Amino acid sequence: MKAGMDQGHQFLVTCEHGGNRIPARYRDSFVGHEALLQNHRGFDFGALGMAREMAQALGAKLIFSTISRLLVDLNRSPTHPRLHADWVRRLPESSRQQILIDYYLPFRASAEAAIMHALASGKRVIHLSSHSFTPELDGVVRAADVGLLYDPARAGEAALCREWRTRLKAREPSLRVRRNYPYTGRSDGFAAYLRRHFAADKYIGVELEINQRLLLMGGKSRQQLQALIICSLVAALTQGGQRAGVVSRE
Ligand SMILES: [Zn+2]
Repeated sequence: MKAGMDQGHQFLVTCEHGGNRIPARYRDSFVGHEALLQNHRGFDFGALGMAREMAQALGAKLIFSTISRLLVDLNRSPTHPRLHADWVRRLPESSRQQILIDYYLPFRASAEAAIMHALASGKRVIHLSSHSFTPELDGVVRAADVGLLYDPARAGEAALCREWRTRLKAREPSLRVRRNYPYTGRSDGFAAYLRRHFAADKYIGVELEINQRLLLMGGKSRQQLQALIICSLVAALTQGGQRAGVVSRE
């Protein structure tokens, strides 16, 4: 499936929490913390697979990382108190700087370069950041299957997410789709950072959050869910997008 829509925008797909890899030189500091690497603290299960599917279907550039968020969280600002796991934060300043230079800054720089490249050709960027969330956190069961995170103050983002949700619900009424859940789109994150650098008429940033319970199904159900999410997004842009002001025909 290729999204043959108007030429007014270019998709960018990113995956900040795509894996739980720890480079050899930092493995000593992870001794005793191996279990965390395997759960939602270490990475977003299934998020990279979803990102790959979206990028392929949308003809988008994909920028992803397989370094564990416990080493450095690419979806947090450099000043965020939990940019690193506690034990990584206790490493010498020079080591933490090196982690940023090796893994954090190149990810952000390549995404920003992709956005600037698209803007230079006169296109608006629709950035989809692929994530997944644990079905239960601190004893609280999350009441959603899919979350669409955006900044309500950005009209294009709000319109896209409203249409996307409508299309998802039309195709699969039982799917629990919530906006700005389980987190708010305005909280610290890569999209929030990009919004400060790119105006609302140039950049649309949405974080897609999928409940890991659904991604763990595997096989056909997982593929169907991925296809449903992508088809609904394309429908939101092609059928409802013009009406909702998400896209403009040239
Ligand atoms: Zn994530």
